[in-house]
Amino acid sequence: MNNNKSLTPGSPSPATLHTPLSNLTSNDLSTSAHSWEYLRKQARQFENELEQKLTSYSKIAAQVGRSVGYSKEGEGATGNSSEAMELELEELIKKLTSVVNSMAEVVDRPSTTPTNPSMMHMLQRHRDILYDYSKEFKKTKANILAAKNHSDLLNSVREDIRRYSLLIKVAFYSSFKSGISSETDYFLGERGRIESSHRMTDMIIEQAYETREEIGRQRNILLNMNNRMNRLTNMFPGINSLIDILQIPFAKKNPDMKNFRSNSLVSCVGFLATIKKKPFVKFSSALLTQRIMATNTKISSDNKQLIKRSDKIAHFKQDVWSIFTPLAQQFNAANLGQGFMDFPPPDFVIEAANRAINNRNDHQYSPPKGRANLKSILAKSYSPLFKRTLDPDSEILPTAGANEGLYAIFAAFLDPGDEVILIEPFFDQYIANITMNGGVPVYVPLRPMGDTNKIMSSRDWKLDINELRSKITSKSKIIVFNTPHNPVGKVFSIEEMAEINKLAEEFNLMIISDEVYDRLYYDPDVHERIANLPGAWERTITVGSGGKTFGTTGWRIGWLIGPKHLIGAALSAQTRIVFCVNTPLQEALAISFDLAETNNYFENTIGEYTRRREKLMKALTDVGLPYTIPQGSYFILANTAKVKIPEDYPYPDVILQRPRDFKVCYWMAKEIGVVAIPPSEFYCEENAHLAENFIRLAFCKTDKTLDEAAKNLQKLKKYIEE
Ligand code: PMP
Repeated sequence: MNNNKSLTPGSPSPATLHTPLSNLTSNDLSTSAHSWEYLRKQARQFENELEQKLTSYSKIAAQVGRSVGYSKEGEGATGNSSEAMELELEELIKKLTSVVNSMAEVVDRPSTTPTNPSMMHMLQRHRDILYDYSKEFKKTKANILAAKNHSDLLNSVREDIRRYSLLIKVAFYSSFKSGISSETDYFLGERGRIESSHRMTDMIIEQAYETREEIGRQRNILLNMNNRMNRLTNMFPGINSLIDILQIPFAKKNPDMKNFRSNSLVSCVGFLATIKKKPFVKFSSALLTQRIMATNTKISSDNKQLIKRSDKIAHFKQDVWSIFTPLAQQFNAANLGQGFMDFPPPDFVIEAANRAINNRNDHQYSPPKGRANLKSILAKSYSPLFKRTLDPDSEILPTAGANEGLYAIFAAFLDPGDEVILIEPFFDQYIANITMNGGVPVYVPLRPMGDTNKIMSSRDWKLDINELRSKITSKSKIIVFNTPHNPVGKVFSIEEMAEINKLAEEFNLMIISDEVYDRLYYDPDVHERIANLPGAWERTITVGSGGKTFGTTGWRIGWLIGPKHLIGAALSAQTRIVFCVNTPLQEALAISFDLAETNNYFENTIGEYTRRREKLMKALTDVGLPYTIPQGSYFILANTAKVKIPEDYPYPDVILQRPRDFKVCYWMAKEIGVVAIPPSEFYCEENAHLAENFIRLAFCKTDKTLDEAAKNLQKLKKYIEE
């Protein structure tokens, strides 16, 4: 019997389970003590210790992470102590792993047969706990690191302020010695204080703008200071005139202060001249006003100051597109990141748009159910593909891009708590579209079945239908299916679709078939439609995209195709979202479709993209990066496991806490000159590690961009370890 094979999805990975017993460093499990009860006791002991440590360290990290300004808590997780915490946890996990391994060995022993079910049960329970704690450990480790960074920053600000206070003291002292008026003291002291508080404010805004009240308070303090600074500036025309005054022989101007010591005067002038050079002396009322305005903008752009964000969106992280797309320009890198075309649509499509725009009558609202011209050409073009006569009126709905179409479907069918099954990796917008409509995403990954360290086909990324079945509950309502697939490039076979369709039928699930790349598949594969399978039409809405089909991602027009009862519900929601889709571009799309039916546009496009695909594959082969050959869509997943990035590479905050693929993509954009997208964004947090070694490259780009990327990718060679 091999227990590792019978692990449930909640079990630790085989690599963790096979940690050798020799790893036990203290209280080694001696052979004589290797009895079942002894092992269980050990496991319970390690579990208890882990439970306590994980709770207490997470608490410390959370406290430190929240602290602002000067804080004692900041010291708790700095330096060695954070490493010690991490090591302690790691050691405990190792010990528990060894004990669980030993339990598995005992269960496996021939003398234990026939297998005692309660032992199996206990073993499984300890494995589950180990799995949970391993996950918890990863989270806690990340939190400890974040807390340490936070605490380091607090300390450096504290150090700065200490330095400034010293300067202020010197200023007081020297102005006292030189007999400068008490206003001067005040001026210098105030300047220093303002500067310190100002730095604190910056830091608080950067580090802790979660604390809305704190920002409000800081803003008021800043405003207050601005007023005081203005008053002071009026009193003192500036430090230059102060120096001038001091340089005029004092005795002449103040005959009654004959005892004034000239060396004090020199030292004071010297001091003022030195601090004038320091950046903080350049600090002026105008600068302060500027900062206040920046703070105001930040507050209103974050919208955290006065008006609380809804829980529906408050947890959204910065989306991957707005992190990586700007890097192309910033680092002058070839942009193979976001999936938009960096070439214009074909001339006949642009001409269609011109014609539509020039029609004076087509600039007002359209009917919510869409424009007749577009619906009828979609029905004509898609009827043969769906092997039925589509009714343009009730079975087709133009949408504001596939994106909005998806949103309308979720709005139309989800009630709070309804579960939607997503196949990982998935187009990242799905999650927000589901949760904003009260749904709960449930995940099941495609798993690469070949050796990902070699070139493989997207055909080898498989869905385990039993794993999918195990995710179905009484709350499951919809399964989202995507073929040709973004980002794997997989074109699902009829057999694979039939399995999904069978489950949908068995559990009465609705199917959303995202087929935005339906016109892009490569020989010998062809795109099949799940809606054509027996019984599937009645439960399926198929989603299409004009942006993908005609290279017009900015037009924001897509469509839904399905039975009347499903399309009617989506229309009902869509009418309350956008009311109708933009008028002239629906007309332009209708003209484009009509022409494409007769000018071989679809076949030619496949030819063009086949060529681009070859170009990018060759570039990856030349540099020695293994990849997945896509059967469809316009993305390639490349495996970067062999790329060794300098360990101490400095990443911006937005990248620091994200998985390895984010770091690889940032580093590649900056150092190699190629922008890619980290695919862990297309997984739930728990499964993000499955994507850590991959990057997604888009080839919907000009030859110039692809050639530049190929050239830049060569720079990777020196970082690749065979
Ligand atoms: N689904 C998938 C799988 C996609 O990749 C995209 C676009 N990247 C969309 C939907 C959205 O398409 P549209 O631009 O028409 O909204």
